[in-house]
Amino acid sequence: MTLPRFDRILLKLSGEVLMGPGQFGIDPATCDRVAREVKAARDEGHELCLVVGGGNIFRGLAGAAQGFDRASADYMGMLATVMNALAVQNALERIGVETRVQSAIPMASVCEPYIRRRAVRHMEKGRVVIFAAGTGSPFFTTDTTAALRAAEMGCSALFKGTSVDGVYDADPKKVPDAKRYDTLSFGRVLADDLKVMDASAVALCRDNDIPIVVFNIRDEGNLAAVLRGEGTATVVQNQTNA
Ligand code: UDP
Repeated sequence: MTLPRFDRILLKLSGEVLMGPGQFGIDPATCDRVAREVKAARDEGHELCLVVGGGNIFRGLAGAAQGFDRASADYMGMLATVMNALAVQNALERIGVETRVQSAIPMASVCEPYIRRRAVRHMEKGRVVIFAAGTGSPFFTTDTTAALRAAEMGCSALFKGTSVDGVYDADPKKVPDAKRYDTLSFGRVLADDLKVMDASAVALCRDNDIPIVVFNIRDEGNLAAVLRGEGTATVVQNQTNA
């Protein structure tokens, strides 16, 4: 696949990625592996920022279904993302990557508050910025946060790390001859309701012309490979016939 060089990217990690083989919570070995992926990409000269989800710990919708007030449950979900952000920060710093966590819900004794210009400056200095607490507002998701921060940070692409190597026309875990798309248009993803990211995140990327690169974060070395145009991924973008 030929990809343009993406100098600055946003990597979206869902909470499930950090769960590793478990069913809940944070798997330290998986955090270490993800950190190595990020380091490899940074070592090849890319500027990186990360948005981490919280679904491995708490999701607002699930909480609301159990009787919690939706907004309160969403705040709980956002706090869960802060725990994940600290775990990823720790793993990165252990292998010598300088990082900053910025939270959309200010918590001065834990991390920096979200300040756009400061975040850009960190990246310019080679630091990896990890955005925590989503947008800071309930009724959103960290997918939408990822699209928002990618636009704010002037990222040239949003990388969505998943457990499959792209977007398929059917679930590849259930349908053996499911077809993987190399490229897709934003319009097609929205019209066919393909499960790439939330519709609001996809629309935000479309409106700001930020390609979404869906790739497998579980394959060792894959993030850097995809960035070099060598790996397997699906690119969702504006100019394509698909
Ligand atoms: N959340 C929110 N506002 C945001 C981002 C997240 O209220 O801007 C809450 C929401 O309850 C969500 C939870 O945080 O369910 C965890 O985020 P998400 O479900 O997006 O995590 P992921 O699926 O990526 O692990």
